[in-house]
Amino acid sequence: MKGFTKWVSIENGLNNEKYSRLADTDETVLKNSNGVKWCLRCERVYKVGSFKYDANDSNEKPRIYCPYKDCDGDYWIDGWEWLHVAALNNYPSTPELGEKYSLWPRQ
Ligand SMILES: [Zn+2]
Repeated sequence: MKGFTKWVSIENGLNNEKYSRLADTDETVLKNSNGVKWCLRCERVYKVGSFKYDANDSNEKPRIYCPYKDCDGDYWIDGWEWLHVAALNNYPSTPELGEKYSLWPRQ
């Protein structure tokens, strides 16, 4: 049985120990996507290195998630490079944080 979840939110946590283990995979996002990731689950953007994790996750490499409280998207799996999404939809290269940008918006 899974214990209860105790979320901890991290902002600008590029040097946070929970993040740094895989930080190199975000380097291209930092360089090419203005430091912004886009979440496949909630379709909002957030800054690279901002995430949340479960304080009760005792794994050596705890899973980290999309930073928005109402979203359970995975930081690494669901967090895409913003410029890919922007190019598909003519979205601005610098998006508004917290704004929803649909991958396939209704025309
Ligand atoms: Zn999300």
